[in-house]
Amino acid sequence: MRNDLSIQKSTRRSLTIKFIDEYRNKKLIDEAVEAIRNVSRKEVTLMEVCGGHTMSIHKFGIPSLLPKNIKLLSGPGCPVCVTSRNFIDDTLECSKQDDIILTTLGDLIRVPGTETSLFKEKARGSDIRIVYSILDAIKIAEENKDKKVVFPGIGFETTAPLSATALIQTRDKGLNNFFILSAHKIMPPVMTALIDEGVKINGYICPGHVSVITGIQIYKPIVENYNLGCVVSGFEPLDILQSIYMLIKQIEQDSPALENQYSRAVKPEGNKKALEMMYRVFEPIDDWWRGIGNILNSGLALREEFKSFDARQLFDPLTRIDSNKDMGCICGEILKGLKTPADCPLFNKACTPVDPVGACMVSGEGSCATWYRYAREAV
Ligand code: SF4
Repeated sequence: MRNDLSIQKSTRRSLTIKFIDEYRNKKLIDEAVEAIRNVSRKEVTLMEVCGGHTMSIHKFGIPSLLPKNIKLLSGPGCPVCVTSRNFIDDTLECSKQDDIILTTLGDLIRVPGTETSLFKEKARGSDIRIVYSILDAIKIAEENKDKKVVFPGIGFETTAPLSATALIQTRDKGLNNFFILSAHKIMPPVMTALIDEGVKINGYICPGHVSVITGIQIYKPIVENYNLGCVVSGFEPLDILQSIYMLIKQIEQDSPALENQYSRAVKPEGNKKALEMMYRVFEPIDDWWRGIGNILNSGLALREEFKSFDARQLFDPLTRIDSNKDMGCICGEILKGLKTPADCPLFNKACTPVDPVGACMVSGEGSCATWYRYAREAV
């Protein structure tokens, strides 16, 4: 006879399967595609700004289901891809200092800097260790009190609250050999910066995970000031098709609006506690986005109260101007939605996931890596 725990596990598993089945149900997907075809008349370009959406869109072949007048573009939604080359160079510089253990997420280790990468420097003997999260890095600091342990913090509102919470706990524990190199970023400024730059889109498929934390009101200025529809979307095929349908309806009726398709996960007000933690530790600063440039108040820096955790005091950071040695990589134009991986002459030739030239080929959420995995035959 099964005990309570195994029954609970089994029930949870069957619920999950049923849940996924519903959102991948062919009949429902066909109906959603039909609904889109029925309302869609105009030439429309929609942009997703979430690496998870980029993956889902290509994994499930969403573009092939849509009428030809609807184009999907990937924007700057992959945290590794938008992290500047300068930041990678800073991280490399930091790893060269005596007594430092540089911890890093697996994706970041292969992103090329100007001359080298963390992966190459690890092979040359630097103490660079892959971790799954900031919590692993803190554990390494606790176990190596004679060393300084540095964690490069990347990612958007999704990961910044975890970094903030971890730093508060680190301070409370009195651990003084742990440091963060923050490249955390926030999403709304880059979304408006792209429109200001003249990127031609008709609506945003807004990021699901970011919105779980922020809530949906952060997109209101985009609707009100730029007349662009914003729909917060989930990640399953039916989620994405439904979000596209909602945007197309807005566009056809000429009534841009802020809507929440992912209401099963995203509360309108978001996660207030997580946001409060994030802004207790970090404050907005101007920050550099790979291929896009410097964007006002788009990054997160440690507040004065937490400056003792700032890894930038351990070495001389490079100037905050992104080095522009691009080696033919067009990641920046892809992140701005001006080009697709198909436009890059290096795609699947000099640049592959095994030997990436640019950041967009490194992360599983990057446009180039996603195209390589799911759509390279079509290029
Ligand atoms: S295929 Fe490689 S070189 Fe080309 S844009 Fe993508 S990451 Fe850069």
